Amino acid sequence: MTALLERAREAADRIEAVERRGLHAVLAFDRTVLLEQAANLDAARPDGALRGLVIGVKDNIATLEYPTTCGSRILEGYRSPYQATAIKRLKQAGALIACKTNLDEFAMGSSTEHSAFGRTRHPEQPDLVPGGSSGGSAALVAAGAVDAALGSETGGSVRQPAAFCGIVGIKPTYGRVSRYGLVAFGSSLDQIGVCGRDVQTAGRVLCAISGKDPNDATSADRPPLEFPEFPKDLTGFTIGVPQEYFPDDLDAGMRAGCERAIARMREAGATIKQVALPHTGLAIPTYYILAPAEASSNLARYDGVRYGPRHTPPDGDVQGMYRATRGVGFGPEVRRRIIVGTYVLSAGYYDAYYRKALRARWLIAQDFEAVFAGGVDLLFTPTTPTTAFRAGEKLEDPVAMYLADVFSCPANLAWVTAMSVPVGRAEGLPIGGQFIGPQLGEARMLQAASVLERLVDRSAEVR
Ligand code: GLN
Repeated sequence: MTALLERAREAADRIEAVERRGLHAVLAFDRTVLLEQAANLDAARPDGALRGLVIGVKDNIATLEYPTTCGSRILEGYRSPYQATAIKRLKQAGALIACKTNLDEFAMGSSTEHSAFGRTRHPEQPDLVPGGSSGGSAALVAAGAVDAALGSETGGSVRQPAAFCGIVGIKPTYGRVSRYGLVAFGSSLDQIGVCGRDVQTAGRVLCAISGKDPNDATSADRPPLEFPEFPKDLTGFTIGVPQEYFPDDLDAGMRAGCERAIARMREAGATIKQVALPHTGLAIPTYYILAPAEASSNLARYDGVRYGPRHTPPDGDVQGMYRATRGVGFGPEVRRRIIVGTYVLSAGYYDAYYRKALRARWLIAQDFEAVFAGGVDLLFTPTTPTTAFRAGEKLEDPVAMYLADVFSCPANLAWVTAMSVPVGRAEGLPIGGQFIGPQLGEARMLQAASVLERLVDRSAEVR
């Protein structure tokens, strides 16, 4: 057996093993699909940059090998007639598409508990959540079953689970990666992102999927990102620390972990500068108006005619069919988003909510622009306000769940790039530190992250 086939077989064994133990990070997997790809790659022998890398794919990204369900009953069993550009590029680079990963329904959530097919467990403590909405991708990487996984970001859905699970998660600049084949949630925010066990792996996957795509008019007219050389220290880096991300009630472990990381970066030559992002407090209400507004429009297409299963009541007309299909097909969180989104866009409320949120978004974006124009290369913050929380803890309280995104969703609103890097553990759970960089500033961000990754021991407890 060739080394590549052996590698694919071992990955298949690991995926089956973690799923048997009840991780439930995977929605679709077939080992013959993985082994066939390895055999074909062996026959073709391309020297792709990702040759043999085993990759999981969030189930809102279209693949030919597996259904694309978005974790929703309304797309149960749905097979896309085409594959996402990101998937095509991964294959061209020699990567193996292993499986589809679990997510909050239509990527709406921060815990993966909103999947219609059951929640994903935290890879270390099964009674905790792995974060979300790309919880399946993050948990599978953290469990060591795959090398990397694609996720999607509308408001933190790669970074937040990456932080909870103790791995690296990257949200590229809006437009850096083609969204052709990513199921739309909030189109002015959505971006495909990457979970990886380390900066090197996640960065290489990002490079392979990035670049202009004629099939996505919103993709930036830039060549693919080139993998940057990793520096030996942080000389020449100015890193801004925004006070708004270190509030008095920040979890003590999160604070200690991030402050330790900042101290190490200073020792490694970085200039640390206190900065202000005064509109940070507007981010959660702004995001939770704009994202549902866009979702309510994007999800109108699931009508039982074009996609997925159809439900027809015995005496129903076409309206009855829509009602039944959507009533059965959408879970409670998706319904909540559609209702909120329709409300904030409706006559009489549009100005009070939607238009106001658009204005607030510009203020948030200008905060970032101002600090980056003022000589700051990157910002450093906690990725999340706490470490992973208990399953069920926030399920009945949507606002509490939404607040889990308080440090991650501003970057999406501002169209900039950001990533989470493991910086230690508090009370036995991983802590994520976040870099935020300017638009198209991924190369420098990856460089700083690679140094930080060497400076801190991700398994070391703080306090
Ligand atoms: N947790 C956020 C939400 O529920 C972010 C989701 C995402 O980034 N896809 O909308």
